[in-house]
Amino acid sequence: MEVPCIDLAAGYLELKPELDKAVKRVLASGSYVLGENVDAFEAEFAGWLGAAAAAAVGSGTDAIYLTLKALEIGAGDEVITVSHTAVNTAMAVLKAGATPVFVDIDPETFGMDPRLLEAAVTGSTRAIMPVHLYGHPVDMDPVAKFADDHGLAVIEDCAQAHGAFYRGRAAGTIGKAGCFSFYPTKNLGACGDGGAVVTNDPELAARIRSLANCGQDRDSRERRRNIFRGDVSRLDELQAAILRVKLRRLSLQISRRREIASFYRRELSAAVALPVEKDWARHCYHLYVIRSKERDRLKKHLAAAGVEALVHYPAPAHRQPAYARLARGPLPTTEAAAAEVLSLPVFPQLQEAQLDRVAAAVASFHPAA
Ligand SMILES: *Cc1c(COP(=O)(O)O)cnc(C)c1O
Repeated sequence: MEVPCIDLAAGYLELKPELDKAVKRVLASGSYVLGENVDAFEAEFAGWLGAAAAAAVGSGTDAIYLTLKALEIGAGDEVITVSHTAVNTAMAVLKAGATPVFVDIDPETFGMDPRLLEAAVTGSTRAIMPVHLYGHPVDMDPVAKFADDHGLAVIEDCAQAHGAFYRGRAAGTIGKAGCFSFYPTKNLGACGDGGAVVTNDPELAARIRSLANCGQDRDSRERRRNIFRGDVSRLDELQAAILRVKLRRLSLQISRRREIASFYRRELSAAVALPVEKDWARHCYHLYVIRSKERDRLKKHLAAAGVEALVHYPAPAHRQPAYARLARGPLPTTEAAAAEVLSLPVFPQLQEAQLDRVAAAVASFHPAA
């Protein structure tokens, strides 16, 4: 493909000298887990978001799972979330022993529709987990108000929302905790798996750090005191060192993503349904998702023109064989989105000629209807 949907090697080449140096330094240090890079990254990432604390963990899935565990949300408890998301959202809730309860989404933002919370809440509900999908924040004020009124925790799935803002506040700093992924394709991606929980509650962060490290009290590591029955889900020093280099460039890269989105808005608005950015939102364009009733035909047309477009996600969680038992009421907006969404290439290293090629390929598609 002349224009891949994402090019991770280009992301490496852009920062090669700094990344190579950081990796070599870790290799030579002999300190590979729970070292200075993890501590420094936690502080730097929390600072970048304007949060009090961050706890680095092994993946975005575990960021969600360990947050639930730290809040003692598990067997018999329900967590209201959405089905139109990476399956990891539901998987992490199940891993904690709790049950995900799906509500439908807003057709414009692809995020949780807060008006549907009332019908989903039960005596077993403990938390609400909005997913800031594609990088557009969920309308958080009504979610937070509903949670307050019902005594529920708000846990934000921020795996796609590094650099998204809701009414001037960074996604991940609005609820009790924000769960981030550093899977390689994310806006801030490691060269392997990684995740972090961001919170304004330093005690919660400490509990998550402990749970991620065998339940040991990290502040008294030498004594190997197990204060919880924990897991092994640590961010390692190599990934932390890589993430520290990339974090320094992240704000610029998100600006570049937004420039690409502006270009698409200018060039494509006549041809297809483009992503919406609400006036209360700052989209970080993790994915640039258009809609088409002829999605599959458009995807093939683009491929023939050398443009790779991907579908995020072809089936909602409750349509996956492993999670079908979670299906309850109908989710018509979720189902429609799964049939129509298409992600165009958006990554900071895209060249102007590649962008022109995407625009031309989309413009030359002739809808049947
Ligand atoms: C990627 C992703 C996750 C999980 O992150 P991992 O690091 O892959 O475990 C969770 N939720 C959403 C919405 C994601 O996109």
